[in-house]
Amino acid sequence: MVNIVKKIVPEDRYYLKCPFSMTPTRIVVHNTANDATARNEISYMTTNDQETSFHYAVDDQEIVQGIPENRNAWHAGDGNGKGNREGIGIEICYSKSGGERFTKAEENAADLITDILNRYNWDIDKVTKHQDYSGKYCPHRTLDLGWDRFLNMIKERLSQTRERPFIIGEIIYNTEDLYLHETAGYGGKEGFLAKNTRSIVKKYHYNKGLYMALGDENNYYDTAWTDEYNKFTTEAPVVEEPPLPENPKEDNQDIPAPETPDNSNNDKDDSETLPDKSPSEENLSDNNLPEDKPERENPLLWLLDKIIKFIIKIFTGKK
Ligand SMILES: [Zn+2]
Repeated sequence: MVNIVKKIVPEDRYYLKCPFSMTPTRIVVHNTANDATARNEISYMTTNDQETSFHYAVDDQEIVQGIPENRNAWHAGDGNGKGNREGIGIEICYSKSGGERFTKAEENAADLITDILNRYNWDIDKVTKHQDYSGKYCPHRTLDLGWDRFLNMIKERLSQTRERPFIIGEIIYNTEDLYLHETAGYGGKEGFLAKNTRSIVKKYHYNKGLYMALGDENNYYDTAWTDEYNKFTTEAPVVEEPPLPENPKEDNQDIPAPETPDNSNNDKDDSETLPDKSPSEENLSDNNLPEDKPERENPLLWLLDKIIKFIIKIFTGKK
């Protein structure tokens, strides 16, 4: 797209040219019906003392802006109707004589309109013509050449620049770690966006490929551009829930840890601690297994064992 030159009307003339703040809902296309350049169109518009005004003038060289998009302009001939109060007015230059300059101006206007549609996340139905509001045969040469032809020029550009799975303002999450670029295609710093970060789609950028800026409710950041749309989803990550059970698990392991040793003391250390207290029990329960175990661990127990066996021998011997 050619440069957009800003020649905004001074604020002390807002009362005349763009008295109302505006949230635009559409684009209104005009032809100038003269052969002036875009700069001259805007210069004349901003300096004369008539109300007539429009946001942009486009010629074969450049796009010149005279009114901010968030102010209304008087161009659609519908009084306080939607054309004047909600429309971004665009004048295409050189429509009086036509020819190559006009052809190129129309192409530049199609670029600008595509840019506006993309910025507002609008579709082709937002492109309207002056004629729709007041019945005036404007944009006259564009209509002569074919309105659908002009819309098709824009549609073709939209298909080239649009592949946008998300709408502006949408909350999305990245399904894997990724790096964000400072600006679209111009290199610079990179920012890291950890997996499952909650972001808001703030803006699209078209100059170098199709980039998307992320941010929070209020801002988008310098380092916030990416074109890796396939790594984002609008669905809140389910992965957020497993980490919650996982943490309690870790806690569980920590909390019972002191208990487990207590329990194991009772079980494992039986042979070491109990013999002193109740040697008989030990012998009864482990009768068959560790005949020599007491011998090693407790001489007293070993002796007791021998005595019992001796007594048994005596008994059996007597019988
Ligand atoms: Zn018009």
